[in-house]
Formats: sequence, structure tokens, C-alpha cells
Amino acid sequence: MRVGIVGAGAAGLAAAYELGKQGNEVAVYERAPFLGGQASTFDVNGARLERGYHHLFTSDTDILDLAEEIGLGGQMRWIDSTVGTLYDGRIYDFVTPMDLLRFEPLSLVDRVRLGLVTLMLQRIKDWRRLESATAVDWLRKWAGESAFEGFWGPMLRGKFGEQYYHQIGMPWIWGKIATRLASRKGLAREQLGYPIGSFGEIFDALAQRIAQQGGRVHLSTPVTGIATADGQPAIEASGPEGESLGEAFDAVIATTHSYMFMRLAPNLPGEYRAQLESARYLAAVLLILVLDRPLSHVYWLNVADPSIPFVGVIEHTNLIGPEHYGGQRLVYLSNYLDRRDRLYTMSHDELLKEYVPHLRKINPDFDPSWIAASYHQRVNAAQPVIGTNYSERMPSHRTPLPGVYLANTTQVYPEDRGTNYSVRMGKRVAQMVMDDNE
Ligand SMILES: Cc1cc2nc3c(=O)[nH]c(=O)nc-3n(C[C@H](O)[C@H](O)[C@H](O)COP(=O)(O)OP(=O)(O)OC[C@H]3O[C@@H](n4cnc5c(N)ncnc54)[C@H](O)[C@@H]3O)c2cc1C
Repeated sequence: MRVGIVGAGAAGLAAAYELGKQGNEVAVYERAPFLGGQASTFDVNGARLERGYHHLFTSDTDILDLAEEIGLGGQMRWIDSTVGTLYDGRIYDFVTPMDLLRFEPLSLVDRVRLGLVTLMLQRIKDWRRLESATAVDWLRKWAGESAFEGFWGPMLRGKFGEQYYHQIGMPWIWGKIATRLASRKGLAREQLGYPIGSFGEIFDALAQRIAQQGGRVHLSTPVTGIATADGQPAIEASGPEGESLGEAFDAVIATTHSYMFMRLAPNLPGEYRAQLESARYLAAVLLILVLDRPLSHVYWLNVADPSIPFVGVIEHTNLIGPEHYGGQRLVYLSNYLDRRDRLYTMSHDELLKEYVPHLRKINPDFDPSWIAASYHQRVNAAQPVIGTNYSERMPSHRTPLPGVYLANTTQVYPEDRGTNYSVRMGKRVAQMVMDDNE
């Protein structure tokens, strides 16, 4: 069987590898000049770093098994995570469940209520019970107004913005708690994983295996249309020199975000389009600072201070040591927002001017002279916004177009999107295509 795949991110490469492994002929078309999509890397001090911070949880078994299978198991490092919340000029550690009980900005009663609600969520095995509630309504009801406003509210607003945070369905919170819980044993510290050399190593090894299996990966080759004639799908693309390319397949798997898919396949029936449109996306904007010394002692800092224009500070070198990056420290300042947001449209210099003065609120000794270099990255369609009762609206992988399949992050549910789930989905859809063509 011949299968065309649109996109060389985690889903597209996992699908191509799986299909090739089982003797099928695959061609992957990727518009970017690099592999990895949202988890792709760029060069920093001669090392590779993800455009947006990335780590794995111990529960991410699909990508971990795949890394093992392609010979990269030895590159995984597991490190105790350090998580904190910046509140009122102070960093509160959130490393063990006991830290919640020490979170002074909340009253003792609220801390206990939050702890009990977390335990309650851990006991709920069937997320469908939570599907009809928004996270805001459910958490306000069970944790109480002040505990919600002091803890979950800033986190939800930070991740989804004022515009969307109240729409998020409760399974999103449930999925987060289930993932974090699976990454720690009892009261032990959470461990986070990272492949030494970056996630790029996984994508390179996958592309190499795909080539060994006889498959092709075309970079800098944007797909311009997915056509179907006489029940057979075909990919139209524009090659690196702008040349028009076209190829017919037995099946096509698109792994692009839904809006791109709708552009590529304009003949999709209205009902399926409405399902695709029911999950909106936020973009991510990241300012990456290369510092000559550490900014803080934590890897992951949630910013619960509305005067600060970014919501996450991820100090990568507090997870993977600075010796891997020429001795320098790498810090992401991160935001998820609408593409029309002023922060998303700002230039690199404008963002530096906007963000840097706030770094003293994290470390009072900070001085701009610590910044050796900085990078600016934008990721479109970075985070789907999934509302209530989504299982009734989630688009199926088999699209109404004959032989055309969709595998994108809006179909990762109830978990939050992540490389692990894209790998899992890519493999599943590859199997679905093979089953359908038996
Ligand atoms: C800031 C940020 C932080 C994250 N942190 C983590 C983390 O810590 N851990 C984790 O596991 N996950 C994390 N994720 C999520 C993870 O990166 C994604 O869920 C995953 O990489 C998605 O893979 P995918 O293949 O489904 O989609 P994508 O990576 O979006 O791949 C789709 C591909 O399709 C290509 N494409 C689009 N249009 C066309 C076209 N017309 N023709 C050809 N190609 C096209 C794109 O260029 C892209 O390469 C993070 C994401 C972001 C944005």
C-alpha cells in the first residue's frame, strides 16, 4: 500500500515509521525545512534546543517505547523536577504534595480543601463523569471560591487567557492531575524526562528509519491540496524550488492543525467542518534568554502575578545542566495567546523591552547584562481549547473524504496534547489505515 503523510511532526513521523515497518511505501511532505513540528529544535551555542520547552513524564510510555525501539533508550535522562509558583514577589516551591499545605497565600482551610479536591480527582477513574462541567464551575463548587481564585484560577487564566479560560472542560484538569500523579510514586518527587541531545534526536532517528524502510521525507515541501478522484486520494505540493508536485496514494494521513486541513481539503462536508471548528487553538510565544548565570532555582515557575506579562518561566538548565550548552543558562519566558494578541504580534526587540524589566520580580539581583543572547519563537496552533462534552463533537480520524485520515492535536482527548499522545495517535491511525485497506 502507498500512503502519503502531511506533516513531519511527532504524529506524522510515528505514522510513517509504523507503516514502513509493516511493509508499506510512505512519502511524508513537510512544509518546514526541519523535522519535529511543534517539538522541533534550533541551534543554541552549538547545541539543539526545542523552540518551545519540552520534557516527558514517566507516563509517556508511547514515545518512551518508541525511543527505545529506535535505539535511543540510553539517551533518556530522568531528573527530579523543581516546580514553583511566583506569588507576591516570592517563589513558593511545589515539589511534593506537602508543599500545597505550606502555600501561605491561601488560608489553611483552603489549602486543605484543595488537597481534598486533588485526592477526589485522583479517585475518579472515568473522566466522562466530569465531561459536562467546565473546569471553572467544577473547581469553584468543590474547592470553593477563594481556593479557586488563589490557585486554579491564575493557572487557567495563564494557560488559556481571559477569553477562553472559562470554557475549558473539566477533563483537562483531570488529565493534568492523572499525568502528574503517574510521574510520582506516592509522596515522592516527580521525575521529568528529556532525551540528551534534544527531542530532535528522536525525529532524526525516525526519519533515518523511514528512509531505511524505503520511505521518503520531503522537507520544505508544503502541501497545497488534498484531492480525491475516483475514490483515490492525492497530494498536491510545492517543492523546494517552487515546482508543482502531485502524487496519488491509497490513503493520505494529514497531521496538520484543523484550519490548515480545511484549507487543503475545501470539499469537506459541513458537519465535519463544524466539528473541526469546534476546537479553537491558542498560539504560543516564547522569548528564550541565554544567561551567564541562573535566574532561579526552579525548572518550572508558574507566574501568579498579573502585573507580569508572561505566565511561565521555564529554566531549561535547571533540568538539563548548563554543561550541555557551553556553560550558559537557558530560560524560556512563555505565553499562550490568541494570534491577534499584541504580545504575539510584537517583534523580538519589543518583546525584550516588555519582558526584561519584570525579571527582577523573580530574582531581585537580576541585571540585563546577564543576557548573553536571546531568541524569539512563535508556534501557531500550539494549544487546542477543548470545551465541555467534547467527546460528542471530536472529529473522527476517518474523514468523510475517501481514503483521507486526520490525526491532529484536537483529537487527543481527554489528555492534554503532548508528543507522547501524537506518537500514540500516529501509530493508531497508521494501523487504522492498514486495517481499512486489508
Ligand atoms: C510551547 C510548547 C511546549 C510544549 N511542551 C511539551 C512538553 O513539554 N512535552 C510534550 O510532550 N509536548 C509538549 N508540547 C506539545 C507537543 O509539542 C505537541 O503536542 C506535538 O509535538 C504535536 O505533534 P503533531 O505531529 O501532532 O503536530 P505538529 O508538531 O504540529 O506537526 C504538524 C506538522 O505539519 C506541518 N504542516 C502544516 N501544514 C503543512 C502543509 N500544508 N504541508 C506540509 N506540512 C505541513 C507542520 O509544519 C508540522 O511540522 C508543547 C508544545 C508547545 C507549543
